[in-house]
Amino acid sequence: MAARVDHAVVAGTFSLDGETFDVDNNIWVIGDDAECVVIDAPHDVDAILAVVGERTVRAIICTHAHDDHVRVAPALREAVVAPILLHPDDKPVWELTHPDELWDVDLADGQTITVAGIELKVLHTPGHAPGAVCLYAPELGCVFTGDTLFNGGPGATGRSFSDRPTIEASIREKLFALPGETVVHTGHGDDTTIAAEAALLG
Ligand SMILES: [Zn+2]
Repeated sequence: MAARVDHAVVAGTFSLDGETFDVDNNIWVIGDDAECVVIDAPHDVDAILAVVGERTVRAIICTHAHDDHVRVAPALREAVVAPILLHPDDKPVWELTHPDELWDVDLADGQTITVAGIELKVLHTPGHAPGAVCLYAPELGCVFTGDTLFNGGPGATGRSFSDRPTIEASIREKLFALPGETVVHTGHGDDTTIAAEAALLG
């Protein structure tokens, strides 16, 4: 059974530093007909479950803990009985949205998560958030970048817990080291490729 990537766009809001914005978030589901992992849990459990279908969810992987990526992670965990995975450096960000709940398993740089026979390699890419991670799937030729790298450049670094030199270093060291043809599936907006973004950032 071949692994595949399924996708939905879920609308909602993002709040930080006392401001709230309307946002469309991508969710990504990687797996086969039997099992899958979900990348990010924004806004609406039912929208995520519609992509999951009847499959067993092995993990809910959070690319970082901004509220538009983790708001329904605990509710999704309850619905599918799967652990929430988050890099521990995002604890102060997580606590803004879920002060009374915890995630289940810490993500670590270099760790590999296997689902449906394919490997997802965890790349710790701080900058947009201290515990931001990307998930690289060499067999699928793609990387899931959350808000670290978008079509058009690095993620935002103007608010609390973020830093522009740090995100640029993460992108150059961890993401631009991947093959240029690697497809970039982002947390918001359209896909891109590593080569296209490397050319843009220079
Ligand atoms: Zn974010």
